[in-house]
Amino acid sequence: MHTKKIGNKLFMVELGTGGFENLICSYIIAGEKPFLVESGPTSSVPRLLSGLKELKIDFEDIHYVALTHVHLDHGGGAGTLLKSLPNAKVIVHPRGLPHLVDPERLWASSQIVLGFISDIFGKPESIPKKRLIPMTEGFFDLGYGGKLNVTETIGHASHNLSFLESFNDGIFPGDAAGTYLPEFDVIVPTTPPPFHLEVALSSLDKLISLKPKALYFSHFGKASDAVQRLRDYKVQLQLWANIAEDGVKKNQSLEQIRDRIIREDKVMNRIVDFVKNHRIYSKTMLENCVLGFIEYAKQKWENPKGTA
Ligand SMILES: [Zn+2]
Repeated sequence: MHTKKIGNKLFMVELGTGGFENLICSYIIAGEKPFLVESGPTSSVPRLLSGLKELKIDFEDIHYVALTHVHLDHGGGAGTLLKSLPNAKVIVHPRGLPHLVDPERLWASSQIVLGFISDIFGKPESIPKKRLIPMTEGFFDLGYGGKLNVTETIGHASHNLSFLESFNDGIFPGDAAGTYLPEFDVIVPTTPPPFHLEVALSSLDKLISLKPKALYFSHFGKASDAVQRLRDYKVQLQLWANIAEDGVKKNQSLEQIRDRIIREDKVMNRIVDFVKNHRIYSKTMLENCVLGFIEYAKQKWENPKGTA
């Protein structure tokens, strides 16, 4: 079984991408017309389809696939997935839309930024424009009295959306609220370059104002105490930013700044061995996400008024 019921009319599909457990998942909201959240990467599409079969949901009945953003691990598989879902359209931020129509540039930059990880995710296939619904704010009727609210939450990416479902009052934040490690019940920043701290913080305020009861992370799974976690995540981002800014002023290396983050962030301190030994997280969390803060700090340092 790859699927798990995690709430009223709500299921999670463990995608098991590249053989990794607890790394990437998709969600199914089983309203009158079932709704998918996140296609996951191309390599995991067969697993997502087998999850639908497990739940006895007909492929023809899926009308919407909502993508939090178009990064390969969240929306990379949408083109391949649509070939099996004849009636489905994809909800995407307008800034992400061109990358779904023509994924070549996204694929090329992912290969540079992610290296071997992009091969684990697989190359995205193009989606015809008529099957895409560009959106930043709005809502969908889920049937049975339920609603899915769409809201723009940029910062992690310039094209990040979050979705609030009313059956359980939970939010799918994509990567706007960090990465949840269920093994430790903690959140770690997901902040690859280009990361914009102020924008990310105001997106978190937006999510807090919706008073969610749960967060459904694409990495990975459901977490309760949503509002408190969002508040804590804001504090954690600010801590990383302060350390990066100080490090940039002192001309410290990425390794020095990273090691100071590990020392001073209680969460990182607890999970550092796990992350260092994780083939994917060792690169994404300990390199790319630290680099996001360093580049942000450099830009702020070189250009304090933000006039560039
Ligand atoms: Zn992601």
